[in-house]
Amino acid sequence: MAFELTRAPSPDEVLSEKGFFSNFWRKVFLYASQVKASDIHIESLKSGLQVRIRVKGSLIRPFDLVDEREAVQLVDKFKEISGLDTSTKKVLQDTSFSLALTNATYRVSLSPGFQFGECAVLRIIDNGDIPRLENLALPQSAKTDILWALDQKQGLFLVTGPTGSGKSTTLQACIAAMDYKEKKIISIENPPERILDGIVHESITSRYSWGDAIKGAMRQDPDVILVGEVRDKESAKLAIEAAQTGHLVLTTLHTNNVPATVTRLITLGIEKYLIADALLFVSAQRLLKALCECKVSENGLFKRRKEGCQLCKFTGYKGRIPILEYCLTPDPDLIFNFDQKKFANILKQDLSSETQKLINEGTIDYRVDQPSSHDCPTIGGDQ
Ligand SMILES: [Zn+2]
Repeated sequence: MAFELTRAPSPDEVLSEKGFFSNFWRKVFLYASQVKASDIHIESLKSGLQVRIRVKGSLIRPFDLVDEREAVQLVDKFKEISGLDTSTKKVLQDTSFSLALTNATYRVSLSPGFQFGECAVLRIIDNGDIPRLENLALPQSAKTDILWALDQKQGLFLVTGPTGSGKSTTLQACIAAMDYKEKKIISIENPPERILDGIVHESITSRYSWGDAIKGAMRQDPDVILVGEVRDKESAKLAIEAAQTGHLVLTTLHTNNVPATVTRLITLGIEKYLIADALLFVSAQRLLKALCECKVSENGLFKRRKEGCQLCKFTGYKGRIPILEYCLTPDPDLIFNFDQKKFANILKQDLSSETQKLINEGTIDYRVDQPSSHDCPTIGGDQ
């Protein structure tokens, strides 16, 4: 008798099953794809299950609340689609899966600790949509400076900003702008977002840390290493070491502005002479919501029309627009005698004046919180 190996059905197969639960999720994924959503939020509330979609930075709820009696089964079906363990409701689970239906990859974070059941958030990565530097809404002078930095043989290319500021999109656009037929590029991410054919992708796992991956990559004779995130002293030190030994290292750091990035590297315990030697390009960015044409004029400036219109799906916004502040190869003296205010003076563009420009043009709501390059923690006793 031959053994038949059974395998779990693929996400697309589960979605194509008949019945209410698969049907519901099929509609959600297709809708999110049509409106080019960035995230899907699945929320267990007292009155039932709510599924919301983040479009152009705003959450909308295009689906009716699902009755609490069906909510648990609906979450179970979602877990089956995404390959999560359906036998437990008590642990945090992370995964990612792809759908041929939408040509997208979903990064899932499922959380059990809520009062009325499990909640999940899915980050959507459109596989057909590799970001291109020329398409990013940045000033041409900034793009020219970025391309100059990407053309250097070695150094640290840092993109910083808070969560959701578009750091990884910028880095992917940078990688896509490079000649990866002539250069060996290794990308270390957790997990890889968009796969570019022609570059080597590596994933971080619980047994393979950022530090291990950077050390491993350096032994593979790369020209360029993309490190998804520098978050501790070990990975920062290794990234800087790689950037000083003939590699261009592109990475992100979780800070608010460019001067704060230098502060962060110093507080991580990296020697100032190493920072001064490695820094090639340091930027901080934000994504600001661009107003829809239904915007309202007030005292010569513009603000969002709260109820929106059909065009903006009643959100008042039509998309998001990146703003950037950056500096190129800062003078080593500015690092040795680090002072955040002096450092802010060398920025080629800064976040607050870029924001002001967009307000004056009527592109964004004038009531937006203005980011500042002077707003960063000081370094205790180390100046
Ligand atoms: Zn509108």
